[in-house]
Amino acid sequence: TDADLAPTVQMPAVQAATATGTHGLETRAVSAWFGERKVLDRVSLTMPAGQVTALIGPSGCGKSTYLRLLNRMHEMVRGAGLAGEVLLDGDDVYAPGRLPASVRRRIGMVFQRPNPFPAMSIYDNVASGLKLAGIKVTHQERDELVETSLVRAGLWTEVRDRLKTPGGALSGGQQQRLCIARSLAVSPDVLLMDEPCSALDPTSTRRVEETIELLRGRLTIVIVTHNMQQAQRVSQRCAFFLASHDTPGRVVESGPTEQLFDSPRDERTSDYVNGRF
Ligand code: ADP
Ligand code: MG
Repeated sequence: TDADLAPTVQMPAVQAATATGTHGLETRAVSAWFGERKVLDRVSLTMPAGQVTALIGPSGCGKSTYLRLLNRMHEMVRGAGLAGEVLLDGDDVYAPGRLPASVRRRIGMVFQRPNPFPAMSIYDNVASGLKLAGIKVTHQERDELVETSLVRAGLWTEVRDRLKTPGGALSGGQQQRLCIARSLAVSPDVLLMDEPCSALDPTSTRRVEETIELLRGRLTIVIVTHNMQQAQRVSQRCAFFLASHDTPGRVVESGPTEQLFDSPRDERTSDYVNGRF
């Protein structure tokens, strides 16, 4: 019959990967070192799928290090050490034989300074996410993915008429959303955001927060922020990190965001969220 001869409809690889896992991310007693120096001590956290978890705490307490070990960027630093377990949907991110690149495809990251390729077009910036991940798609699939990623990043309506414009011509806030779109092109399960709004003005910050709101439910998001209002606006869960000159970074308290802000169990959490240190 005709049906037998019809080509099998193949889901683009990227679409197939969009289903968010049910577990999210979890660390069990994770410690981290730079050489001899221990900077994180037995951090156990659950970052549920589809939710936004905010990491807060003073500078130097290991928040960025923690983010980087979640997607195996920590090990790119010479002398970096690690103990404990990182689980993505229940699977060990550091399982023998598991390639760091395959982890980074499922766990994307955006940084404080938006880092699009400035001379590259908006379109190519987003498509570069696919290329870097080695994902082969047809031209049409690529067009669709670029559009979908820009829509999800909340940037589409602003750039749809000028996709050939260099990424560097966009405002800081637009560049940050472009970087988010680039991460989304490979349909990651998790998006890590390290102070994504620290370099942005209040209006751009607001737009990035709207993007986070758009993404909530679709992805597991972990965001480091020094902005307590932002943590309250965007996150469902929160973890407070603290270190001292002779103590590595630890999680003092974690739980629902409301709890950390409205009824913290630890006095140090209360002091921090109320701006007392
Ligand atoms: P945060 O993001 O909370 O400000 P970081 O994770 O950046 O904290 O840093 C935690 C500690 O690890 C700091 O004492 C910092 O100096 C140290 N550190 C960070 N990156 C490196 C590195 N590449 N080599 C050595 N020490 C580092
Ligand atoms: Mg940091």
